[in-house]
Amino acid sequence: GDNNPTVLTTCPYCGVGCGVAATACDTRGDQAHPANLGRLCVKGAALHETLGAEGRLLAPFVNGQEASWPQAVTAVARAIRESVARHGPGSVAFYLSGQLLTEDYYVANKLAKGFIRTPHVDTNSRLCMSSAVAAHKRAFGGDLVPGCYEDLELANLLVLAGSNAAWAHPVLYQRMQASARPGRRVVVIDPRKTATSDLADLHLALRPGTDTLLFNGLLCWLVDNDAVDLDYLADHCQGFDQSLAAARAEAADLASVARGCDLPVDDVATFYQWFAQEPRAVTAFSQGINQSSAGTDKGNAIINCHLATGRVGKPGASPFSLTGQPNAMGGREVGGLANTLAAHMDYDSPGARERVARFWGTDAVASGPGMKAVDLFDAVGRGEIKVLWIMATNPAVSLPETGRIREALARCPTVIVSDCIRHTDTARYADILLPAAGWGEKDGTVTNSERCISRQRRFLPLAGEARPDWWIISQVARALGHDAGFDYPGPADIFREHARLSGFENAGERFFDISGLAGLSEEQYDAFEPRQWPITRVLARDSRRLFTDGRFATADGRGRLVPVVSRLPARALSGDFPLIVNTGRIRDQWHTMTRTARSSRLLAHRPEPFIEAHPEDIRTRSLVPGALATLTSAHGRFVGRVRATPDQRPGEVFVPIHWNDEFTGQGLATALTDSLVDPLSGQPDAKQGHATLTHW
Ligand code: SF4
Repeated sequence: GDNNPTVLTTCPYCGVGCGVAATACDTRGDQAHPANLGRLCVKGAALHETLGAEGRLLAPFVNGQEASWPQAVTAVARAIRESVARHGPGSVAFYLSGQLLTEDYYVANKLAKGFIRTPHVDTNSRLCMSSAVAAHKRAFGGDLVPGCYEDLELANLLVLAGSNAAWAHPVLYQRMQASARPGRRVVVIDPRKTATSDLADLHLALRPGTDTLLFNGLLCWLVDNDAVDLDYLADHCQGFDQSLAAARAEAADLASVARGCDLPVDDVATFYQWFAQEPRAVTAFSQGINQSSAGTDKGNAIINCHLATGRVGKPGASPFSLTGQPNAMGGREVGGLANTLAAHMDYDSPGARERVARFWGTDAVASGPGMKAVDLFDAVGRGEIKVLWIMATNPAVSLPETGRIREALARCPTVIVSDCIRHTDTARYADILLPAAGWGEKDGTVTNSERCISRQRRFLPLAGEARPDWWIISQVARALGHDAGFDYPGPADIFREHARLSGFENAGERFFDISGLAGLSEEQYDAFEPRQWPITRVLARDSRRLFTDGRFATADGRGRLVPVVSRLPARALSGDFPLIVNTGRIRDQWHTMTRTARSSRLLAHRPEPFIEAHPEDIRTRSLVPGALATLTSAHGRFVGRVRATPDQRPGEVFVPIHWNDEFTGQGLATALTDSLVDPLSGQPDAKQGHATLTHW
């Protein structure tokens, strides 16, 4: 009815980025949105059940006392100003989130790097996508996803590496299911047999961490069976010989690959044959690849095989990174990662620092890359960061070795937390709490896994004193004396500025260019329909796929095969901690449950933390399925109910990532994983902890 007009918006949960037709009491799939064409998964369909004032942070708090906005803004600005005066700009840090809208992200990045001039801006996308980003940069010369969702349907061979898409990207999985046809084959590469394996013609339950070996073996096999595209390599690539030599050194024959990966030789051979035969092949990879201390190399091992066969950015033929968060891509676009500056420009991109400073109207920007998430929190623990502003994320749960993270937060002189939820494990450490607008209360854009920019639209009034993040950041900027750059009337103005920067002094050399949107009117921004970037001022080409002409974003235009060799986590199994712990999502929860746990329907699927183990591992420990058990690592404990399943490899257990102290106080998966990070991406090895399993 008139009281509940339907608004088209975008789901705030995963990187599929489904369009939602929403009212205050109902959420349905948007039939016209290209990501989902009307479909929604159970999380999206339950969105309306998670709205409402219960549990919300409804007013600012300063040192435990409810405060007005002017008081809170003054307190934040004072803490930043004093810290910069006494300890320098590098004593202030921002920890952002793939849950923020692009406009929020843009303003935070601009304030930090351009006006406070601290380089220490990182984001929880570090835990999610940073290895894929680093792999893209090495191979393509930029953080660029070559393909689109349609490729997952067009492919005659669909390889899913480290992805339980059925639970983590459900609507994309539905699209893969719906496009099944005779002759279309699916290979799932995952140590566990998951719901996604149902779609598999071949499931390779490899030894955890051996993905590089498997793809190095594939590269050798392709060469030995005349299945590489030598013309493509000669015309468009570099690094083939070196990469092949590196692969040969460890993966010379099928038997050694099969042994190393702990797979049947015949299964490895079948996968390799299928890949060699089928030109329309897509390898979609996700957190099983990224969340690793060798995640970047794993990504490049995959991309190497696609470059060697010329299968990049072609219909149904591409490597494809599945983004975890709703706006992990948007955060990358504005420069929300510590090693990037702005608009896909790195600090060392020629002329970038001066160009961005000119554009922002500031004398200088931060001088070079800042600290990445794990390092950043180590610096907090050492007392080097005096002011830490955390927005829309819960690092006390999501970063590895949470005990250390919590000690660091307790030690930091000023912790500022912007969130829409009152009680989170991280909010307990906040000196200043700022109430952020929730989904449905704010306007802006997000970018999904296929580079598609969509609007999130407002259809609810702001709860209590909650405000959009861009507004909060702008208020603080102005309290710091930066009126000129932060007098935004609304998100459309921020979006136009962001779009302008992407094309500023850009003679067509940058792939990330959305300057075609810099002139959107207020009405056009409101009515903006989902579109994939690039969107240049003179767009003659289709943006669905990149590198279709074999020209990449490197200086010489050539794609790079990267020599990689397998590396297992530095901390191997020991007698004390004999089990490998694998972590992941469950179907109906999102992140640390701060929103999804508010729906009883969503909680019903898996109501409590659990430990999945092979029946043999349960038997030898005299444990009972259904009873509580404890996993203990060098860093902490996880208590959950034991589930026996042959889908788990012997010697390995699985635990879900979602539970935390606010919800049980016992089921913290990050208590079991190490702070080991990938040397290039800084992404933590969240997929592989080590523990012992005992009675509770
Ligand atoms: Fe939301 Fe992802 Fe489900 Fe789509 S697949 S409805 S974006 S959680």
